Amino acid sequence: MEENVMTQAMIVRLQQAGYRKTAARNAVMAVLRQAPLHLTHQEILSQARALNATLSLASVYRTLELFTSLGLCRPLYLGEGGPRFACVEDGHHHHMVCRACYCTYHFPECTAGELEVELSSRFGFRIESHLVEFYGLCRECQAEGEAGKDGLG
Ligand SMILES: [Zn+2]
Ligand SMILES: [Zn+2]
Ligand SMILES: [Zn+2]
Repeated sequence: MEENVMTQAMIVRLQQAGYRKTAARNAVMAVLRQAPLHLTHQEILSQARALNATLSLASVYRTLELFTSLGLCRPLYLGEGGPRFACVEDGHHHHMVCRACYCTYHFPECTAGELEVELSSRFGFRIESHLVEFYGLCRECQAEGEAGKDGLG
């Protein structure tokens, strides 16, 4: 199982930047890839410890910093409790975030492919991944907003 945690593309990305695949990096990436939600450093640590019992919080911080600098994940700032992380290791990540309750909805539809080609040629930019993020209000929060207007003010 452990061998499948990092894709070949990811190992290559690490190696090109002068880093190796380690047990700590493997465990953190496994958690990022499998988590259905965005986790904090502490949450990543507690889940990654199931795979690597000696992992420390400092090591989780360093690993996430490295992954962020390599474009393998992006930090998100959703409410309290510090950054949470979205995995873009397979090239993309698409979600909607409610600005009131911070719930997130993920969707697989990708419309960025054509745009990437166009932007690459226009700016000569080598695009490696994307995070598509829509902000707004979820159904529940819209309903609450309406109720507030009509009732309690
Ligand atoms: Zn997301
Ligand atoms: Zn909401
Ligand atoms: Zn996409």
